[in-house]
Amino acid sequence: MSDSEKPATALPQISRRTGFSRNSLRRDGELRTEESLAAALGHPAASAYLSAGGKWLVKTDGPGLAADFTIDEAMALGVALDEAILLGFDAGDVPALAALAPVPVDALPPHLSAMDLRAIAMEGRVDPDTEGRLGQAAHLVQWHAKTRFCGVCGAPTRNAAAGYRRECTACDNVVFPRTDPVTIMLVHDGEGNCILGRQPRFPENFWSCLAGFVEPGETLEDAVRRETMEEAGVGVGAVEIVASQPWPFPGNLMIGCLALATSRDITFDTTELEACRWFSRAEVQAMLGARHETGLMVPKPFAIAHHLIKAFAEDDLTATR
Ligand SMILES: [Zn+2]
Repeated sequence: MSDSEKPATALPQISRRTGFSRNSLRRDGELRTEESLAAALGHPAASAYLSAGGKWLVKTDGPGLAADFTIDEAMALGVALDEAILLGFDAGDVPALAALAPVPVDALPPHLSAMDLRAIAMEGRVDPDTEGRLGQAAHLVQWHAKTRFCGVCGAPTRNAAAGYRRECTACDNVVFPRTDPVTIMLVHDGEGNCILGRQPRFPENFWSCLAGFVEPGETLEDAVRRETMEEAGVGVGAVEIVASQPWPFPGNLMIGCLALATSRDITFDTTELEACRWFSRAEVQAMLGARHETGLMVPKPFAIAHHLIKAFAEDDLTATR
């Protein structure tokens, strides 16, 4: 690739390598009317992704997992289609939807199974486009489930704009799907060392980047500085935003940053982390290559943290710009 062909920023490069990022649907959120949902459900080739018991239904009787169901199949499973969500349209203008299936996941027909979305994505059980659609579906299904009542007057809300907003049934309050930003940062010292931490819930030997929610009234850069100080007790100067990843657990956007430390001593927050320390570039390279002498590991390519750590390990921090 010549220099002139390289993308101007890293965003399309790293972001497109992360899990849930390859959703090809055209959402058409601005074009939706009260008729959009019925029109989508009436399309003869429409398909739906179905959530049950916090998991996703998949057909297991084919060569691979299939997560899409016809509208007739959804109706046979008792799906309330007036609460369905239109995710968008594929390249052939065929609509894809998401809905809740009121079926017990422990008593499914033999050709169906209910799978955890994190497992589907981490194990690469579906193609990247389907993975991205399921991420969008999971984010929206969970938002609808938590937005059933009006925050202004307490009356029930109803599905509108084919699932892209909810309207109060008693007052004029309208709410739109929310996305909560989370910064995730590779903090380094500019001299070949970076900070990784371990949360208590992590698998054994697993280390990753520091991360935290952006607070109201705060820039992304200041969120990185505040979270790094809170979690590791380390100061941060320059912050560079390099990538992002949809993260539907339950409705986040991970914003990947590189951060240059301005101090060295680590005093970590023991309520958030069980360990936090500096790692040399050589040690991180060994972790990425699954050849660390005590078996320490970093996240898989599915997670944006992997790509931030890899950029550091390859001393490619400037190439991410
Ligand atoms: Zn209301």
